[in-house]
Amino acid sequence: MEILKGIPVSPGLFIGEAFVLEGEEARIPERFVLSELVEGEVARFEKALAAVREEMAALADRVRAETGEGVAGILVFAISVLDDPKLSGEIISHIRRDRNTAEFAASRVLRGRARILKNIPHTLLSQRASDIMDLERRLLRALLGAKRETLSHLDRPVVVVAHDLGPAQTVSMDHGKVRAFALDVGGKTSHTAILARAYRIPAVVGLGTISTDVCGGDTIIVDGTRGIVVVRPDEKTLARYRKLDAEQTDFSVLIRRERGMPAVTKDGAAVRVMANIEFPEEVQTAIEYGAEGIGLFRTEFLYLRSGILPSEWDHFETYRKSLSMLGDRPLVIRTLDLGADKMLPAQERHERNPVLGLRSIRLSMKYPEPFRTQVRAVVRASALGRVKMLLPMVSNMDELRWARSVAAEIMQDLDREGMAFDRNLDVGIMIEIPAAAVHVESFAKLSDFFSIGTNDLIQYALAVDRTDEVLAGLYTPAHPSILKLIKTAIEGARRKSKPVAMCGEMAGDILFTIPLLGMGLAEFSVAPAVIGDVKRIIRSVKLSDCKEVAEAALAMDESSEVLGLLRSMLRKLVPGGDRLGESG
Ligand code: PEP
Ligand code: MG
Repeated sequence: MEILKGIPVSPGLFIGEAFVLEGEEARIPERFVLSELVEGEVARFEKALAAVREEMAALADRVRAETGEGVAGILVFAISVLDDPKLSGEIISHIRRDRNTAEFAASRVLRGRARILKNIPHTLLSQRASDIMDLERRLLRALLGAKRETLSHLDRPVVVVAHDLGPAQTVSMDHGKVRAFALDVGGKTSHTAILARAYRIPAVVGLGTISTDVCGGDTIIVDGTRGIVVVRPDEKTLARYRKLDAEQTDFSVLIRRERGMPAVTKDGAAVRVMANIEFPEEVQTAIEYGAEGIGLFRTEFLYLRSGILPSEWDHFETYRKSLSMLGDRPLVIRTLDLGADKMLPAQERHERNPVLGLRSIRLSMKYPEPFRTQVRAVVRASALGRVKMLLPMVSNMDELRWARSVAAEIMQDLDREGMAFDRNLDVGIMIEIPAAAVHVESFAKLSDFFSIGTNDLIQYALAVDRTDEVLAGLYTPAHPSILKLIKTAIEGARRKSKPVAMCGEMAGDILFTIPLLGMGLAEFSVAPAVIGDVKRIIRSVKLSDCKEVAEAALAMDESSEVLGLLRSMLRKLVPGGDRLGESG
């Protein structure tokens, strides 16, 4: 028996047989074509591209029918990459100019793009690299005429064990038979992880070398809630997990039934539970999962789909579509939050510390045109629904003042043009730099609301790179200093009567729901899949108990003590608290 610890990315439990997927990462050798065959090679590439595009569109239709718009949006990103004329132009130019084979040219260009994305110090963007690698695999398969993996024709339930999985590979599997994933690499925000959650397939990633440690046919337990994989379990372990599995099934059904209910504590405090999304197509899923609105719409995808700057129309259409699904639920649109020089061609400077560099609002101030375009679309969209504009990475009043002045100028322009908009559009800032957390009362003079971004706040407060798996043990919301920063921010905002939400991952970490409620947080914006769990906790507790837990945690010296306290309080105060986080 071997017990492996990885990153839990999709909750649930499955016990079954391993199906080890062979890697398809083999390099394509550089081969050349004769000049008279070059045009034939171009035609071969174009045919393969059209075939893959058709395949992806059919997959997107299938996924849309099975899980709704949200997940299909991920494939829409892949299709938009295929449709990008710059991409095909570059591949064709390698075939024509360098006489490369279609396989080599396609592989070279797509791997180049994947490499650029991978190097961006932002997990969400870097995860897109695996989407691109998946397209490479598909194109090569179309060009080489290789057979599809047997994964779509399984005759028994299996756990898929692989080095990595692309999103398109994930959706084309037989979901009746593929019941869990265990992967060597990956992160919480990878699209494969998002898909696994949407299909409710338990998944653990970041397991290192599981794809070479396990043999096809081995019995394997995947505990996607705790991030544990047991390979070749002994009888005692098997019996324990089988019991857990039976109990969990009943509990998940209960949580799903409850997630549409309002989030009100036992002593009557109403809390708002919203969703974080990255694609407009996810709005529908978020509503189905019980979201009361979108608390964080990350708009970076607009810049990534095509690799070019989106137009005002691109922005506006995206927001219009989202608002039409939301009705009168709020939509908090965050402006451009890119941190890398690669994304905007104008910025070619090498940065020694990109995470501390010219990113987010700083980038917008240096290159204001893309920001102005986005703000104009946001302001126009405010005529169509409850829109709020959220500014990322604000560290001083000047940045906020500048952004507000841009919005005010745009409103004047729109007035002159006779366009409709909401004159009282709320403009707020993310609290993701410790300076902003302690300075919140001053920011309240110019900010209509706040949203605490703990993903970055923790990284800056503890000086730990949030993307470095080697430092993962140091990166924790349970550090008492983090709790203090959050409390300072919440209390400061409340003193100035400004709404304050939390949209970092901590808001969806069920261990922290109770202390956050106790510190006065009344709006949580979380991944759609955990809305049911967070609501159950809110509905099970009294605010007065939460305050006591928060005070006790704040008085502690160490993260380990805080975690111990929070685990025991969750078990004590919430029926089924020890099983939450598993309902998906
Ligand atoms: C955060 O920093 O907490 C946040 C929500 O922003 P992102 O994860 O997009 O950096
Ligand atoms: Mg952030």
